[in-house]
Amino acid sequence: MADRISILSPTLANKIAAGEVIQRPASAVKELLENAIDAHASALSVIVKDAGNTLLQVIDDGDGMTPGDALLAFERHATSKISTYDDLLNIRTLGFRGEALASIAAVAQVELRTRRAETETGTKVRINGGDVAENEPCAAPKGTSVTIKNLFYNTPARRKFLKSAATEFKHIYDVVQRVALAHPDLAVSIRSNDELILDLRPADPGRRVADLFGEKLSSGVFSFNDEAGGISVSGFLGKPDFARKSRTEQYLFLNARPVVSRSIQHAVFQAYEHLLEKGSFPFFVLFLTIDPRKVDVNVHPAKMEVKFEDDSAVYRFVLSAVRSALSAHNLVPALGLRDQSAHSGDASLRFRAPGGVERGDRGSGWDALFRPMPGPGEAPSVPGMTTASLPFTPAGQVREPARSSAEGGVRGGSMPLSEEERRSAPIWQVHNKYILFATGQGLLLIDQHAAHERVLYERAVGTFAQTQNKSQQLLFPHSIECSAGDAALIQQLIPDLESIGFSVRVFGKNAVIVDGVPLDVKPGEEGSILPRILDLYKEDDQSLQLQPREKLAKSYSCRAAVKAGDPLSEAEMRALIGHLFETEIPFVCPHGRPVMITLSLSDLDRRFGRTS
Ligand code: ADP
Ligand code: MG
Repeated sequence: MADRISILSPTLANKIAAGEVIQRPASAVKELLENAIDAHASALSVIVKDAGNTLLQVIDDGDGMTPGDALLAFERHATSKISTYDDLLNIRTLGFRGEALASIAAVAQVELRTRRAETETGTKVRINGGDVAENEPCAAPKGTSVTIKNLFYNTPARRKFLKSAATEFKHIYDVVQRVALAHPDLAVSIRSNDELILDLRPADPGRRVADLFGEKLSSGVFSFNDEAGGISVSGFLGKPDFARKSRTEQYLFLNARPVVSRSIQHAVFQAYEHLLEKGSFPFFVLFLTIDPRKVDVNVHPAKMEVKFEDDSAVYRFVLSAVRSALSAHNLVPALGLRDQSAHSGDASLRFRAPGGVERGDRGSGWDALFRPMPGPGEAPSVPGMTTASLPFTPAGQVREPARSSAEGGVRGGSMPLSEEERRSAPIWQVHNKYILFATGQGLLLIDQHAAHERVLYERAVGTFAQTQNKSQQLLFPHSIECSAGDAALIQQLIPDLESIGFSVRVFGKNAVIVDGVPLDVKPGEEGSILPRILDLYKEDDQSLQLQPREKLAKSYSCRAAVKAGDPLSEAEMRALIGHLFETEIPFVCPHGRPVMITLSLSDLDRRFGRTS
C-alpha cells in the first residue's frame, strides 16, 4: 500500500492554526492591539466597519518595523519577542507565539504599513490568503497600521459561526475596553462605521474607569492595593450596591494582560460573601502583578488562560486582599441581621475597620451590646468541668488560621457578647436547637448547628493553609464500600482530608478504609461521616464553582457539626460559643445562613410598646 501521510501545505496549516488564534473579529483586534502595545505605542486607534466583517484596522504610533521585519512578521512562528526557551519562561510582552499576523493573513486580506522613526520611508506589505501580493516602500507615519479586509473570506465555516453584527461589535468593544483599562496611560479610540465611539485621552487609572464606565459607576467603586509574598494587586472594587446580575463586568489583568481565571473570580466573589444578594456579582477591575516566571500564559493560543505556579496561594492572596479592602471601607459585613432589620431600625451591624477605629454608623441599640472580642487563646473557661469529653476541643487548641496581614481587618470586629457574659451569663438550650443567652443588653439567640458549622469550617480552611488538624486514630478501622467513582474522588481528596484530620486509605476499586477521623467527629459517627461528607460534596452547587477544598470544608463542617436535636450540656454550649466568637465571620454559617440573632432590650421594649 502506498504511503498515506503528507505534510500539510503552510497555507492550510496556517488556516488550521488561525482557527485557534483568530476566532472572531474581536480576536484579531486583540492581537493587533497587543502588538501595538508591545511596540511601545502611546496611541491606539481601532477602525471598524460592519463589526469587522468588511474592515478592521488598528493604527499605532509605536516602534514600527524595518522592511525585512514587515515581511517576516507574517511568517508563522516569526517573533521578535522571544528566542530561547528561557525567554518563554519569563514572558514580559503580550505576544510571544509569533502566530497572530500569520493567522490573520491566512484567513483575510491584510495590508500592513509601517515605518520606524529612524527611516524616512515606510514599507507596505499586502497579503491575500497567505500569499504576498505587494511589498514595496511607501510613505507612512511612524508606527504601524494593519488593515484587515474580508476576514474569514476563505474559511466559510468560520464565517458562518459569526454572530450578529451587534454581538461581534460588542466583542470588539470589550477587547478595546480591556486594553484601555489595562493601559490608562495610552490614548485609545474606536471608530465604527465612521462614528467615533470611544476617544480616550491618557489618564490616571481612576479617571480611565470613570471615562469607560461613567461617573455614576465610578462613584460606586473604590480603589485598593495590596501586596504579599511577591504578588501585588491593585484596582477597583464595586460597592455592593453596584453589584451586577452577571459576571461580565469583572475585569482581570495579570501583568497587564487581560485574562480569565475562574479561580480568581471566585476568590473575589468569596470575599464579598454575604455582602451581595444571591445571583448578583461584584464589579471589579483587578490588576495582579506577579513574577512572570511564576505563571504560565502559554496555555492556549489565545493567551487568555493562565496557570499559576501556586494557584492556591494566589487564590488566598486575592481573597484576603479584597476582603481586607472591603473591610477597610467598612463594607464587611452587615451580616445575618438583614432579616431582622425589618423589625428593628438599628440592625446596621458593622465591623470595626482595621486598627479598631470604628467608621461605621451603627444604630443606638447595638452599641452597648458590642464589646471587643478577646484575643486568640483567651479561652472561655468552663467552670467545674473538663472539656475533654466535649465535641468541641478547648479553645486553647484552636490554631489560628494563617492569614496575611491584609486579612487581619475582618477579625478586628466587635462581638455582641463580652467574654464575661460568655462565661457566666444565663444560658439555655431551646428545643435542642437554639442556644439562648441573656446578656446585659438583651437576648442573643444562636443556631447551634450553624454555629458549630462555622467553627469547623474555619478550622478546616485554616488547616489547608497550615499544619494538620488533630486526628483520633480509630481502634477498629472502618471499611466503607463505595463506587469506583467515589473511591477515585476520595483518592483525589486524600491530602485535604488528611489535613482536616482524616486518615483514609483507598482499598481496591470499591472500598476505602478510615483509620482516623478529626477530633471533632462525634463518637459513633466515625464510620458514617465520610460517606455523608462525600454525598454533600458531590451535591454542592456546581454553579458556585467552589474550589474542591472549600467544598470539602463546607461538606465536612455541615456533616460533623452538632445538629438540631442534639442535646448540649451547659459546658458544651459555652465551649461552642467560645469557639464561635474566635472565628473570622461568626455571624453566618458557611452556607450563608445567620448564626445568631440578637434582640436588644430596646427592641423588646419597642415591641411590647414600652416607651422607656
Ligand atoms: P508575536 O506578537 O507573538 O511576536 P505576531 O504575529 O503578532 O507575533 O507579530 C510578529 C512580529 O511582528 C512581532 O514579534 C513584532 O516584531 C512584529 N510586529 C507585529 N505588529 C507590530 C506593530 N504593531 N509594531 C511593531 N512591530 C510589530
Ligand atoms: Mg502578537
